[in-house]
Amino acid sequence: CGIVGAVSQRNIVPILVQGLQRLEYRGYDSCGVAVHEASMGNNPMGGLHRARSTARVAELQAQVDAEHLQGATGIAHTRWATHGAPAVHNAHPHFSHGPNAAPAETDRAGRVALVHNGIIENHQELRRMLQARGYAFSSQTDTEVIAHLVDSLYDGDLFDAVKAAVAQLHGAYAIAVMHKDEPHRVVGARAGSPLVLGVGVGENFLASDAMALAGVTDQVVYLKEGDLVDLQPGRYWLVDHDGQRLSEAQRPVRTVH
Ligand code: GLU
Repeated sequence: CGIVGAVSQRNIVPILVQGLQRLEYRGYDSCGVAVHEASMGNNPMGGLHRARSTARVAELQAQVDAEHLQGATGIAHTRWATHGAPAVHNAHPHFSHGPNAAPAETDRAGRVALVHNGIIENHQELRRMLQARGYAFSSQTDTEVIAHLVDSLYDGDLFDAVKAAVAQLHGAYAIAVMHKDEPHRVVGARAGSPLVLGVGVGENFLASDAMALAGVTDQVVYLKEGDLVDLQPGRYWLVDHDGQRLSEAQRPVRTVH
């Protein structure tokens, strides 16, 4: 239903949670946020850490405070269930712990964290393929296949892995993805569901609607069908579905009012 993402040099949890609050009016059955704890500098050994809730975003905020969830890189989501009941284990962000992973403390130590709006039509076929490769599923969503698919294709570069993963997806999606080995990066992609890039000073954002970034930045780039975006704090790159790098003339920064 709603997506917010950020790569910064300050704690962006308040921005993510406020962004979700701005998207609440669209309706949702659950919500969640994940950060990369090593992105803050004071926690170099930190990894991916998430909090999810089937209550309101205000409850998620309380959970985030209680768990001291902090990071300069993060993604957040409000879910409107299409596949899998409204429940915490189906709420996003979804993690991949890699193939043959021992059951772990599941809100920490993921390798990939991902949020998704839309529907993956070929999720059953992808699920069977990934299960055969040793991936254990912890939800009934269509979304979780994307997290494991990105993990299975990861070879040191999150952008390349996401690009290869979306080439195997049929359906509608806007996604935002993080990897444990790349604390200062978020990769996004869109096909059939909206996604915008918010451009800041030394920080960049993603959202399913520019409104989620009100008060954070009014400089936005609207992604087109098939676009991928690679965000780091000091730069962003946009690439089209053929893998061609897009210029600022092709995807201009616009001021939203
Ligand atoms: N199909 C996904 C799910 O059911 C995403 C739904 C949404 O867009 O919120 O989890």
